[in-house]
Amino acid sequence: MNTQMLIDFMQRLVRQPSPSGEEQAVVQIVINEMQSLGFDKIRVDENGSAIGIIEGMQPGKTLLFDAHCDTVGIAPGATWTTDPYGGEIIDGHLYGRGCADMKGALAAMVYAAADVDKSKLAGRIVLSASVMEEVFEGGALKTVMDQVNPDYVVIGESSNLNLVHGGRGRAEIHLETIGKPSHSSSPHLGINAVHLMMKVIEAVDGIKLGEHPRLGPAILALTDIISEPYPGYSVIPSRCKATYDRRLLPDETIQDVLSAIKSLPELKSIQLNMIIAQGEHRSYTGSILRGTKFFPAWELDAKHPFVESALKGLRTYGLDPKLSAYRFCTNAAYSIGMAGIPTIGFGPGTEADAHVVDERLSLDALEKAARGYHGIIEAVLS
Ligand SMILES: [Zn+2]
Repeated sequence: MNTQMLIDFMQRLVRQPSPSGEEQAVVQIVINEMQSLGFDKIRVDENGSAIGIIEGMQPGKTLLFDAHCDTVGIAPGATWTTDPYGGEIIDGHLYGRGCADMKGALAAMVYAAADVDKSKLAGRIVLSASVMEEVFEGGALKTVMDQVNPDYVVIGESSNLNLVHGGRGRAEIHLETIGKPSHSSSPHLGINAVHLMMKVIEAVDGIKLGEHPRLGPAILALTDIISEPYPGYSVIPSRCKATYDRRLLPDETIQDVLSAIKSLPELKSIQLNMIIAQGEHRSYTGSILRGTKFFPAWELDAKHPFVESALKGLRTYGLDPKLSAYRFCTNAAYSIGMAGIPTIGFGPGTEADAHVVDERLSLDALEKAARGYHGIIEAVLS
């Protein structure tokens, strides 16, 4: 593998801004690179994700590598010491938005796949540079998977070069209290929906949540609250809406999450509506990704043959991975959490490197990630 070409490719990816919904130019860079590296089939799907395929000479399984190619933006007021889209290399690190999350992994996957000896390959490698992950996990990956029917999936999110076999999920819950409007000079004639919501919040705070040895605790965090009418001039608010971010553990269902709130005895007398939020996001091609914002947690047994052969492949290429888990939500929430396809995570960088000021990735980790992907391919498709 030509490490210098890999670094150049990553640098070009980072220099091209690609916030969610505006990935077209970066997808074109990926497509061009796949073409020049000799991928057998290359296409852009309806949502604008790039898909590249390498066919082995022998029949076998389909191994899908997924890296999302969108990134979060640059938070206002945050001061970078480097140009976020400069792709500068300083002291062995490449700097810029998306280095760790996850253009480094994307570049490493493309080069690892292209470097494989096809005469020894049994099955096919599919690589997706998927769109819109930062706003709607799994939405674009579902479309990719419907086209290529993978047997196994590797998600390239940062794992510090460890092998991830589980991840926390997330859900967005909307609560709404219904009161009764009145003039605020006669508040006793109305029912104040904000006061109702204060009772709800207090009761919800008392819910006991589970904990998982590797994924950590389940979370139920209040993220916003607004009353109606807003602003409220001389009127007792008749509605109040609150949003909760729920981090999920394996096997938790929509039913579990909502009934934990519904069954609170303190809320019996309150008129309360409760839903899991709906997501609707437009991709750069104009397609709409829709769905319920419930992204399940997942876990693949450490003894699963896919985990064991991936571990073997990583070790063959000189890496020393530990078994690990993602505490954040990834496209794996769809690939295994909903579609049930055996999935692992492996990528350079750490969770703490994502979405930060002066985001960066070490070139040493980039090169090791490429070696690791290569090792996984050889071990799984042989
Ligand atoms: Zn990511």
